[in-house]
Amino acid sequence: MDFISNALNRVQPSATVRISQKARAMRNAGRAVISLSAGEPDFDTPQYIKNAACKAIDEGKTKYTNIGGIIELRQEIAKKFKRDNDLNVSPDNCFVSTGGKQIIFNAMLATLNEGDEVIIPIPYWVSYPEVVRFCDAKPVFVNTDAASGFKISAQSLEKSITNKTKWLILNSPSNPSGAIYARDELKALADVLKKHPHVWVLSDDIYEQLVYGGSKFSTIAQVEPNLMERTLTMNGLSKSHAMTGWRIGYCTAPSVLIKQMAKLQSQSTSATCSIAQWAAVAALNGDQNFLDGWRNIFEQRRNILVKSLNEIDGIDCLTPNGAFYVFPSIKNLIGKSSKGGKKILNDEDFVMTLLEEADVAVVHGSAFGMAKHIRISYAASTEQLTDAMARIKKFCDNLR
Ligand code: GLU
Repeated sequence: MDFISNALNRVQPSATVRISQKARAMRNAGRAVISLSAGEPDFDTPQYIKNAACKAIDEGKTKYTNIGGIIELRQEIAKKFKRDNDLNVSPDNCFVSTGGKQIIFNAMLATLNEGDEVIIPIPYWVSYPEVVRFCDAKPVFVNTDAASGFKISAQSLEKSITNKTKWLILNSPSNPSGAIYARDELKALADVLKKHPHVWVLSDDIYEQLVYGGSKFSTIAQVEPNLMERTLTMNGLSKSHAMTGWRIGYCTAPSVLIKQMAKLQSQSTSATCSIAQWAAVAALNGDQNFLDGWRNIFEQRRNILVKSLNEIDGIDCLTPNGAFYVFPSIKNLIGKSSKGGKKILNDEDFVMTLLEEADVAVVHGSAFGMAKHIRISYAASTEQLTDAMARIKKFCDNLR
């Protein structure tokens, strides 16, 4: 395929987006598919945020904005980092992009050269390694397992650092495992990083608001302020405020990086949609109390899911403390055949057969670097989850 660039030929399409689109297409064709494949809250964006967007339109705030975001939004972001994370940052060091993905693309494109290495714990969100490959750099994976709660240790981090390492990508709470790094675990990782001053950290905190069972969220720059000068702390409104379609991702990072991200963004999107930015000002500045209500609902759904999954023969599921995903092992079901006669040779077969025969969409673990697992999103209504669990149980019970 000569016409297509080498950079893009190195990249796989996003599995989460692909399966969600397939589920949507099946639904449009009249199938009663329950989609638990996308990490997208089923709640509507709160009305006060929508009102702010309508007001922005009425007031004619419909023009190009500052590349890295309107000052009003960057001020709210700086306040948020102080309020929630105890980070002292200036609005000049805050930056807004069209979703968290653009923040990651900006940062990686701005810094990676051929052969540079980026450390990514397994299981990872599908896009991290692909963005790194797009930049001609090399993802260096660090394995974890259920026994370690799907978290890397200081020792495994230390072993994976070389003189080519440019970044460590941390994502806590994690997509897909839901694992949360406790403060002392982050401190242990930070102590390793302190010995390697050439390594930067991208802390993807997009699931910050979604922590359960008394777990506490911390971010690495808060735990080790000395790392501030080489940390990009990233967040966004998609998951916390049910604003996936508005495409608001934001971060704080040292000026040396922010300037280059702005240079790149000036040549790509120019800036994020002005109306979405004004909605984001309201989202960050408004009453955040509704988040507790949503968090409780997600926690109840998590409990339903973990319990019903562990009642299925052949499935083992840890109780994750964050995000809105569970990441059970299906290793005992591999090698069996479905009622429709399909042999399940791996986790992708499991997912595709489940979709074809039971009309439930989930994502295979191998898309996240960990085979023999599946990711189920519980950002769906309790009724849908209960129905999906009954279908999954029936499907699994019929495997021979
Ligand atoms: N981050 C979400 C997920 O993992 C949304 C889809 C995507 O961008 O991957 O499902």
